[in-house]
Amino acid sequence: MNTKKYTSLQNIQSDIREGKTSCVLLADYYISQNKKHAHLNAMLEVFEEEVRAKAAEVDDKIKAGTAGRLAGMFLAIKDNICYKGHTASGASKILENYEAVYTATALQRLLNEDVIIIGRCNCDEFAMGASNENSAYGAVKNAADNTKVSGGSSGGSAVAVQADLCLASLGSDTGGSIRQPASFTGTLGLKPTYGRISRSGLFSYASSFDQIGPITSSDTDAGLLLEIMAGVDDQDATSSSAEVTTYTPNASKKYKIAYSKEAMESEGLEPAVKAAYQDIIAKLKTDGHTVEEYSYPYLDYMVPCYYVLTTAEASSNLSRYSGMLYGRRSEQAHDINSTFKKSRSEGFGTEVKRRIMTGTFVLSADEYDAYYAKAQKVRRIIKEESEKILESYDLFLCPTAPSTAFDIGGKQSQDPIQMYLADIFTVQAPLSGLPAISVPTLESNGMSIGMQFMTKAFAENELLNISNRVTTYYTG
Ligand code: GLN
Repeated sequence: MNTKKYTSLQNIQSDIREGKTSCVLLADYYISQNKKHAHLNAMLEVFEEEVRAKAAEVDDKIKAGTAGRLAGMFLAIKDNICYKGHTASGASKILENYEAVYTATALQRLLNEDVIIIGRCNCDEFAMGASNENSAYGAVKNAADNTKVSGGSSGGSAVAVQADLCLASLGSDTGGSIRQPASFTGTLGLKPTYGRISRSGLFSYASSFDQIGPITSSDTDAGLLLEIMAGVDDQDATSSSAEVTTYTPNASKKYKIAYSKEAMESEGLEPAVKAAYQDIIAKLKTDGHTVEEYSYPYLDYMVPCYYVLTTAEASSNLSRYSGMLYGRRSEQAHDINSTFKKSRSEGFGTEVKRRIMTGTFVLSADEYDAYYAKAQKVRRIIKEESEKILESYDLFLCPTAPSTAFDIGGKQSQDPIQMYLADIFTVQAPLSGLPAISVPTLESNGMSIGMQFMTKAFAENELLNISNRVTTYYTG
């Protein structure tokens, strides 16, 4: 059996061409990897029989010369992305038995290119969290150290790539949920520009922030997945018709990069992360890029602004899970009020309830101006000031997260604000609608440290290109 860890689809496809492997062999391999690493709790379900059948089909297509561009790619999907005929629970009890009645547009486009879906990944309930400890199905363990969190909310998606349970995965990012777990697992995580990829079929958490994106081991896989998923979709009015481009790495391109002064001076920044931040700045300079300090004085406003707006949107989006049309109905329900009340009380976890209540509060008539309306104004300033940086610079650099993966149970037992502060560097991009990527750099005690680049809207290829360069600094 094939037991080699592949880090890009290009390598898989060339080995298939040379007869060194096949989709059927790879299916065996990934299924056995999933069994071997079941204790990580990264996957909620592996579609074993379906994967084997699809693999045989794709092998036939390859032989017949009719295979799509993703032939040979085994992809895991976050449990908040609809795949027709398969359970999609958002890692919530309230949707435990929900079967998707249609397939998300982004996923359908990948399926049209013969991607094979290995299974669905654990995540924080309704994508709310930064450690995957808010899942109704338990925490995901970091494969580098099983006592540490995976990050979140796309923790299962990140660990699935880290532990080689699949070649690539899909996550969703509202405030950092692709990039922060990528940082904690040594993988590459891309949050595309708002509107780049259709949200049709992605569970809505905060609709003006949410984006689907890839977690991979290589920039080329991220680029290919992005290219195929991107583009306008009449099922999502916020999807953009901006031209979809192909990504090809360009090693000679030199960038003008701003790095965040406030992040460097941030109190909560772990010394090892600070050292990695200084290290990448030095390496980029040596490589011929222009790297300059930039003061962006809004860092302290970002997390509060993000949590006011996203909880408001969540309180509205999650109102559909009432035990009536959507969501499991409580057995104690006997009239309309008790159906709503008991179904929601039993079905949602603590963090989701906290956010629904916070969101309802900030939207209430008495508090609206003080919180929601004010946060909208702050968001506009954050967006304008972020765009201003990118008028003078190609890229904005800062660490993805202030720390490496923390202990399971460590932050969860503290007050929720401690967990929210894990998002301090990642919320700027979605508040501004801009794309950002987390790239693995140094390690500290065996735990990876990701650095984040943000760029102009629809310039994802520049993020992939710089990731390609940065990867060479750390892997030789
Ligand atoms: N940690 C952030 C939150 O809890 C980000 C979540 C996300 O991007 N889905 O909201």
